[in-house]
Amino acid sequence: MITVFVADAAVCGGVARGPTAVLAVDGAIVRVDDPADVLADPRAAGAAVVRWPNKAIVPGTVNAHNHSFQSLLRGIGDDLPFLVWREKALYRYSPRLDADGMATAALFAFGEMLLHGVTTVCDFYYLNAGGNDHAAATIEAARRLGMRIVLARCFYDWDGAPASYREPVPTAVANFEALHRRYHDRDRHLVSVHPAPHSQHGATPAMIEAGAGCARDAGVPWHIHLAEEQYQVAQSLERFGQRPLPAVAGLDVDLGRMIAVHGCWFDEGERALLAERGGRLAYCPGSNMFLGDGITDIVDLHQRKVPIGLGTDGGCSNNRVSVLDEMRTAALLQKVARTDGQAIAAEDVLAMGTTGGGAVLELPVGDVAVGMRCDLVAVDLDDLSLLPAQALVKNLVYALSPRAITDVVVDGEVVVADRQLTRVPQAEIALRVRTLTRDWRRDPEA
Ligand SMILES: [Zn+2]
Repeated sequence: MITVFVADAAVCGGVARGPTAVLAVDGAIVRVDDPADVLADPRAAGAAVVRWPNKAIVPGTVNAHNHSFQSLLRGIGDDLPFLVWREKALYRYSPRLDADGMATAALFAFGEMLLHGVTTVCDFYYLNAGGNDHAAATIEAARRLGMRIVLARCFYDWDGAPASYREPVPTAVANFEALHRRYHDRDRHLVSVHPAPHSQHGATPAMIEAGAGCARDAGVPWHIHLAEEQYQVAQSLERFGQRPLPAVAGLDVDLGRMIAVHGCWFDEGERALLAERGGRLAYCPGSNMFLGDGITDIVDLHQRKVPIGLGTDGGCSNNRVSVLDEMRTAALLQKVARTDGQAIAAEDVLAMGTTGGGAVLELPVGDVAVGMRCDLVAVDLDDLSLLPAQALVKNLVYALSPRAITDVVVDGEVVVADRQLTRVPQAEIALRVRTLTRDWRRDPEA
């Protein structure tokens, strides 16, 4: 399939430019240039032409950390202490979900993300019920919507969690390998499968090593929640005699392919260690603020050249699903943490939510450039939130209303047109969510 996308402006390599056309062949960007030149390119012969007058093409955003099922719990346990929320909302409702419920959750979470300009989502998935049916239903939902997905399959063996979260080490390994074999797509990168030992509290050292070992064998990165809340540092010191990152680094794992999620309580030594060993970070500022977790020192990690992607985290700890919103949140939080309005710039956080996410997940996405997959977002230059138009990059990060997002392309295919999903009726998603959560309530005793 050959398509040319034409717009009045674009953001390429983090920089705004004027009228631009993007030539996509079989989902890959092969040329980005002035419209007349692209349309005259022999490779564009017979192409479908999608014209976006008064719009700008910006890169599709990358959500480096999410838990799709948590969108179903949105609002049900808000403003509670974390452990109460976990007991009264998460552990109460999540075991009720079957594969069809997981598909509903994924259509809901991913559909809403697409409408907010997210084109790649990494779903850190721990409701596996000892098998792969739930993860498969989640991947199929992303496929149905036309979204790019990384399924980070969880490795979990902490006996404080519901039984449906847990597996013995050999089962987790076998299930990961089967899921990876079935879905991992090295050609168009529409589906990736990574291992994800849950955390120091959710996975034993043997489980963490097994997850990292699977990553080594499969040639993919691995994910782990680390130092999200302050008590986790104390717990690590007590159980392992070391802070979180050194404790994990002391295992038989490759930090060079590790994606640490959160890292709010990494101290200077841990930040230096992460940089030294080539580790990466999935940063979720909205969730960290919502839960009162703490503030990761992103300014320092950025200076140390640690690759950073942005994540929304689950839909009930944020409670938004927009990476463009995370960019703004990330910048504001870092500025206030340092009481320095120059601590970080719009350009830096825009890169984190696009190319940074691509680098962290090892995917050719996040820029409107030759060699990238064709994941694009069109924004309305007449929307008042994007004016004055000459400050497009700053306005995209700090001022954008989601209303300005009109069209979304994944792998060369239009999956949102004129603010509507093209593949799945939004009314179907709304009905499924209403039906499934009809009896879900906030616990009055919580
Ligand atoms: Zn998480």
